[in-house]
Amino acid sequence: MKKHNFNAGPSVLPRVAIENAAKAVLDFEGSGLSILEISHRTKDFEAVNDQANDLLRELLEVPDTHKILFLGGGASTQFFHIPYNFLNRKAGYVSTGVWAKKAIKEAKLFGETVTLASSEDKNFTYIPKGFDIPTDLDYLHITTNNTIYGTEYHTDIDSPVPLVADMSSDILSRPVDVSKYALIYGGAQKNMGPAGVTFVIVREDFLDKRTRTLPSMVDYKNHIDNDSMYNTPPVFPIFVLKETLKWLKEIGGVKAIQKLNRQKADLLYGEIDSNPLFVGTTAKEDRSLMNICFVMAPGYEALNDAFMDYAKSCGMVGIKGHRSVGGFRASCYNALPLESVEALVACMKEFATQHAK
Ligand SMILES: *Cc1c(COP(=O)(O)O)cnc(C)c1O
Repeated sequence: MKKHNFNAGPSVLPRVAIENAAKAVLDFEGSGLSILEISHRTKDFEAVNDQANDLLRELLEVPDTHKILFLGGGASTQFFHIPYNFLNRKAGYVSTGVWAKKAIKEAKLFGETVTLASSEDKNFTYIPKGFDIPTDLDYLHITTNNTIYGTEYHTDIDSPVPLVADMSSDILSRPVDVSKYALIYGGAQKNMGPAGVTFVIVREDFLDKRTRTLPSMVDYKNHIDNDSMYNTPPVFPIFVLKETLKWLKEIGGVKAIQKLNRQKADLLYGEIDSNPLFVGTTAKEDRSLMNICFVMAPGYEALNDAFMDYAKSCGMVGIKGHRSVGGFRASCYNALPLESVEALVACMKEFATQHAK
């Protein structure tokens, strides 16, 4: 049976990227070697690294003021690399979920860390707005899409201090005004590629503000000066990331995918709002287009497991909600086809005909 991959991360990738990855594992560009056994210092791999860089720059319209890095360690490593580099006196954070809280915990190791706003009072079901941003902060850190709770910033906010954003789970899902950010980072495994590679987009002059002596691997400048090859980069994940970006460019880029993402989200939220068995879990204006969370409606809670089993029998994969929200989460990343959302909606409709009171 056809599987519909709603995994939250690592997650669905374009079929063509997987096929090209499979070919490169067997024979990397006619070299007679697998991509798994080549040196990262070869011309052929340097070309892959350059292409990945150029494609991301083009797709996200990254200005010349910013550098792009592909590193190891995941977004979680950036949680401490950022304060290590930039937290001299005081940093501001917005607490919008589990990942934001983890970032705050790490920052506290390096200096004063103030939580300027939080949505924890309502189990992170909304994005806090209208709070003051003090001008004496080294930076302000936000999480643009909250993968677990299903909330998302739909605009690039204005900040009087350098803005740092964890965009792990909504990067490339919509156009972003990169010039508004001092640093953007994330794990690639939600929307940009496979697990094992982390992207960092950093404004070069932001680096001038640093005062600490840094270990080499923590120092962004080191990675910039070595084109992300200060040490061995994640060669194979970067190759698959490059193939994923190539696919995105071929289907029309970020504007085209935004349109498709809206179409998918409208379809699924529309069903959640009209189907008597289900309700959404977040404030409507902050609903994520990437991670769509819903639970059984009041009176139907007992059917939770029955729907899960039924959805599985229809080929749905990865729709179990995170334990801190419960219910269901359908992650609708760029590479998830519209037909998968159509299949989930059909499954919800059919379940309602069987069970509506
Ligand atoms: C998945 C995720 C992370 C953690 O990423 P790792 O690469 O596993 O460290 C951090 N932030 C957000 C928003 C995420 O979705």
